Amino acid sequence: MILVTGGGGLVGKHLKDVLPDAVYTSSKDFDLTNIDRVHSMMESFKPKIVIHLAARVGGIADNINYPVDYLEENVLMNTNVLKKCHEFNVERVIGILSTCIYPDKADRYPMKEEDLFNGPPTPTNFSYGFAKRCMAAHIDSYVKQYDKKWSYLIPCNLYGEHDKYEEHHSHFVSALIKKIHEADSEIELWGTGKPLRQFMYGGDLARVIKYMIDNDIVDNFNVAPDWVHSISEISEIGKKACNKEKLVVNYDNTKSDGQFRKDVDSSKLLSVLKDFEFTTLEEGIKKVYDNFSKRYNR
Ligand code: NAP
Repeated sequence: MILVTGGGGLVGKHLKDVLPDAVYTSSKDFDLTNIDRVHSMMESFKPKIVIHLAARVGGIADNINYPVDYLEENVLMNTNVLKKCHEFNVERVIGILSTCIYPDKADRYPMKEEDLFNGPPTPTNFSYGFAKRCMAAHIDSYVKQYDKKWSYLIPCNLYGEHDKYEEHHSHFVSALIKKIHEADSEIELWGTGKPLRQFMYGGDLARVIKYMIDNDIVDNFNVAPDWVHSISEISEIGKKACNKEKLVVNYDNTKSDGQFRKDVDSSKLLSVLKDFEFTTLEEGIKKVYDNFSKRYNR
């Protein structure tokens, strides 16, 4: 059986659409920072495959304000899950990293998988970055020492219908859509609008995870579409999806831009998933907005 941690999150809900028979756990079922609860989870389900999605995830402000929590909670969760996967002889583990953990500044863009440790992560999510890098090193170590069929995926920023819309918890695209939807004539965004981002529809990552399992592919891959948009271009796509093209977007450049760019190269992935097509940002944001406006106007 397949066990998915973090099953109630954005990615977990998308995964449920394509892997409906897996077991999906949340922090309410098992707090993964507590090793005894992780033991109980493994004992209850005795999974053959574990897809480890759970993480403390948040926006720039939360990462800046709570670096200790980001480091400790993520290191604890990942360590507990991997240790117990080993103890319970889990055959396949897929860990989920993030392109946010790549070096703040790189010698080349888009970055390849082998660039992951070539410099420190960006200061605004330094703790989250190091905790995730530890998981990469931990999985690599299990592969070396115990010859495990364990691996990880490194997805870019995500968005999807299943995101939360509460302040401090939503990701950029959902927060943007909510702001645009609620505004009369103008909105304000943090930073200069210039940073470059790769955004992927959550359902695309879910399809990649399913493909890895169905085809027994055990390797580490970047997962991102090959287009890059500036924040201001993304806000224009958002305005169009929300039918508010006349809305003015003001940028508060006293606030941090975060990492300027972190785009990655998915050619290794696409050499395996040859015909895979990513959802375009225009199409994906429209889907999210249509879903949001139904929920919001209920
Ligand atoms: P999310 O919506 O915030 O979901 C995170 C999940 O982790 C939630 O289901 C949460 O459970 C669970 N969790 C948090 N603390 C936990 C704990 N102590 N014990 C057990 N479960 C706990 O995040 P997501 O966007 O789906 O992200 C999934 C994975 O993709 C994460 O590893 C993240 O780092 C990675 N990722 C995300 C993005 C992105 O832009 N969203 C980009 C790249 C990589 P509860 O809700 O029950 O508390």
